[in-house]
Amino acid sequence: MKKLEIALGEAPVLRKVAAPVTKIDLALQTLIDEMIFTMRDANGVGLAAPQIKESMRMVVIETPPEYDEDDELIPDSRTLYVMINPEIKNMSRKSTDGIEGCLSLPGYVGEVSRPHAILVEFLDRRGKKQKLRLKGWDARIVQHEVDHLDGIMYTDKLTSPDNFWTDEEYEEMMQAEAEEQEEAASE
Ligand SMILES: [Zn+2]
Repeated sequence: MKKLEIALGEAPVLRKVAAPVTKIDLALQTLIDEMIFTMRDANGVGLAAPQIKESMRMVVIETPPEYDEDDELIPDSRTLYVMINPEIKNMSRKSTDGIEGCLSLPGYVGEVSRPHAILVEFLDRRGKKQKLRLKGWDARIVQHEVDHLDGIMYTDKLTSPDNFWTDEEYEEMMQAEAEEQEEAASE
């Protein structure tokens, strides 16, 4: 399987509005498989075609694995979505703040406010029309990936320019917060 090169930072392809997919053929199936392979290889949870320098409206997403009460990995708990020409048809008025990263901006995370729930329509890899209502993490990642198809990066949508950190800064911040909470609990 071929690992695709991921477009980074200010690559112009990341700022273009991608064109709709018009043909679901063998070449597209190969590209989908390569995108899934590239996403998994990079430990990502989502990848949009412009990120691998193909300016077309297609994304792959894989939810993180789930764990049971004993912290054991639940087998097959990940869901893989392939969305061709996805369109967000409806979104909740309620928004939530969440932390996002991006394979095109490795080493950084930022806080973004997004609608909590969405309705998304798309074609699956067989070309069948699908409609999904998603909320929470799934809704967030779909919005992040669909933004890529319109040339939008999550850094355009930060809750504040200050809410953008390196992975290390963010980790330190979380650790400091956890320690504060521990102290408060023991007082
Ligand atoms: Zn991204």
